Amino acid sequence: MSEMYFCPLFSGSSGNALFCQYGDTRLLIDAGKPGRQIEEALGSIGVAPETLDGVLITHEHSDHIHGAGVISRKYKLPLYATSGTWAAMESKIGKIAPELRQEIQAGRDFYLGDIGVAPFPIPHDAADPVGFRLYGGSLSVSTATDLGHFSRFVFDRIAGSDLILLESNHDPDLLRANPHYSAQLKARILGDHGHLSNQSCAEALLSLIAAGTGTVLLGHLSGENNTPELARTVSTELLEREGIRTGRDVNLSVALRDRVGEVYILREKSEN
Ligand SMILES: [Zn+2]
Ligand SMILES: [Zn+2]
Repeated sequence: MSEMYFCPLFSGSSGNALFCQYGDTRLLIDAGKPGRQIEEALGSIGVAPETLDGVLITHEHSDHIHGAGVISRKYKLPLYATSGTWAAMESKIGKIAPELRQEIQAGRDFYLGDIGVAPFPIPHDAADPVGFRLYGGSLSVSTATDLGHFSRFVFDRIAGSDLILLESNHDPDLLRANPHYSAQLKARILGDHGHLSNQSCAEALLSLIAAGTGTVLLGHLSGENNTPELARTVSTELLEREGIRTGRDVNLSVALRDRVGEVYILREKSEN
């Protein structure tokens, strides 16, 4: 019986990198911090970067690709991205050897070693952005951040995952009142192809927990327009109003921006 491991190394508007392992396969989703910081974060959970099998890239925004070129070249790691993402990120990450340049497509599932990878399109203002559901045996883990809204389509792609990392980006009132953000930037974040608010995240969790997910992580928090406490409170209160108690009915935690998260271990349920 195999176990699936998942660890949010970094999650937030200042950089994203998520680790997943099943069987002998180890991969990252995004590499949005400097290479050195990703190496240190991996080291802190006992993973040598040279043992990775590849990096899945969600989209070309710098908080997702900052260190991608560096670690790909240094450790000969293949990068997996959609053709639109490749076109948009190629000039930003530096030269990648052809054999490390892997093109993927939303809706076309594939195996990366022992892990089944199912990329799905997400509503976000990037060239061709995707979220990922990762399968290991009967287990699955989904990550969906950088979502302007939580659509029925995204629900269908990730419903039933054992663990879901979902965006809880901002508090709309804090965002609107933020004097450092231009009106344009606020409109972008609040828009249908921007980022998911705490409230929208909480509503989405309600349906995902009802569909069987037992562990949820709130991720991609804004540094200025949110706090971990606020994100947690908004979700916890909405769930409790609906009779779902965190800690009893569901495990809920917040993936932090600059601290390596817990290593979650998922185990397949035995047949009998
Ligand atoms: Zn992002
Ligand atoms: Zn983005």
